[in-house]
Amino acid sequence: MRYRKNEIIEIDIDDLGNEGEGIGHLDGYTLFIKGALPGERVRAGIMKAGKSYGYARLLEVIKKSDERIEPLCPAAGKCGGCALQHLSYREQLRFKQKKVIDCLERIGGVNCEEAEVFPIIGMETPWHYRNKAQFPVRAGKDGKAEAGIYAGRTHSVIPVTDCMIQDEVTKQVLERFLEFMERGKVSAYDERSHTGKVRHVFIRKGFMTGEVMVCLVVNEPAERFRKSYGKRMTESFGKVDGIVSIQVNENQEKTNVIMGRKYLTVWGKEHIEDIIGNMRYLISGESFYQVNAEQTVILYKKVLEFAGLKEGGCVWDLYCGIGTISLFLAAAVGESGEVVGVEIVRKAIEDAKRNAALNGIKNVRFICGAAEDIGKTRRADVVVVDPPRKGCDEEVLKVIGEVKAQKVVYVSCNPGTLGRDVKILGEMGYDVKKVQGVDMFPWTGHVEIVVLLTTANR
Ligand code: SAH
Repeated sequence: MRYRKNEIIEIDIDDLGNEGEGIGHLDGYTLFIKGALPGERVRAGIMKAGKSYGYARLLEVIKKSDERIEPLCPAAGKCGGCALQHLSYREQLRFKQKKVIDCLERIGGVNCEEAEVFPIIGMETPWHYRNKAQFPVRAGKDGKAEAGIYAGRTHSVIPVTDCMIQDEVTKQVLERFLEFMERGKVSAYDERSHTGKVRHVFIRKGFMTGEVMVCLVVNEPAERFRKSYGKRMTESFGKVDGIVSIQVNENQEKTNVIMGRKYLTVWGKEHIEDIIGNMRYLISGESFYQVNAEQTVILYKKVLEFAGLKEGGCVWDLYCGIGTISLFLAAAVGESGEVVGVEIVRKAIEDAKRNAALNGIKNVRFICGAAEDIGKTRRADVVVVDPPRKGCDEEVLKVIGEVKAQKVVYVSCNPGTLGRDVKILGEMGYDVKKVQGVDMFPWTGHVEIVVLLTTANR
């Protein structure tokens, strides 16, 4: 049966979708309803109806889930950042565990009874955990600049200065930022007309060192912006606790991509520094760095544990970023072993090389290029992959099989593509042995997973 727009329905919710939305079924028809929870009966208005599934707006919760809680953040429900602030943390973890198992079984064809599936590791205090923020900037109704977070699936900006999952320094930065915009009479970007100067505020903090970077993404040549506003930026952001780097990033494209290619230092260093375990890292604005510092330590420990490296081993770290995991792997195989890190972003590879030197690690080589181009010339006993959400290129998986790696440690932020890739690896003789979920993104539907695959016949 197909529904009409604005039709009001009553429905039981039986699942949560990838983005934390409630899912219900009516006579074989699937409806996605943001804010509704499994176990609830709700009244909802149809917004968009396709042939077999549609979207509805939650109007009333008729029967409430026992796991429903009052969100702590006043912007919850409107803001697109946290999709699950109305669900108890314990239940979020249960949902994420179930999602990982479902994807491995349904998409990956894995028998999760045979593999060791460990309970997901959550956070003790799941607040203010993010070390990176990218706030869009718009002109508010009174013409004054506002910074905030996109409302779910739209580009309207919900003003937020006090985000509950960001580090507290973001509040300070945003207050300084709004003052900078007003006093300097700097215009906010307007997406429709592609006019106005400041598009985004980017903030990154090293949790262990306290070092902070602030970067403004601007819609004009970076040099011009620095010339006009550099001094004022330094005055405003120079007072932020821990500030070591003030940057401008140029993005004049009509695009949803936040950062442009060009960075310019206005004041201070080009990097921030941070510490994970016993390693120090330099991180530039354009390099990837895990957003949840506390859980990253746990995640990397699991990677090492699953890899079970021996002295003298050869390891690939594909999608290595700034070499965070590579350096731990290199330390584990000792000087007679070798690690090869591959990463597509040039700046990240530069950071990775500097990080190896900074930590006195010599048995690691970093290659700038696509993981799928690594080729079969090098030996690998163990391969670690940590791809973006779209998963590994099929070529990468093929090469892993061809070089006869004994173990694959797959780090994934997307259970769907993990399932797909594990299936391909399965066809090449790799079996899933261990599965560990780590909650890097509390209050969102996202989950991080580490999987160990081994091959019996090699
Ligand atoms: N292992 C790192 C980074 C993981 S994020 C860490 O834990 O910090 C994924 C990384 O893959 C990003 O740095 C991204 O730039 C890189 N990447 C994306 N596509 C790639 C490709 N085709 N080949 C190699 N690296 C790629």
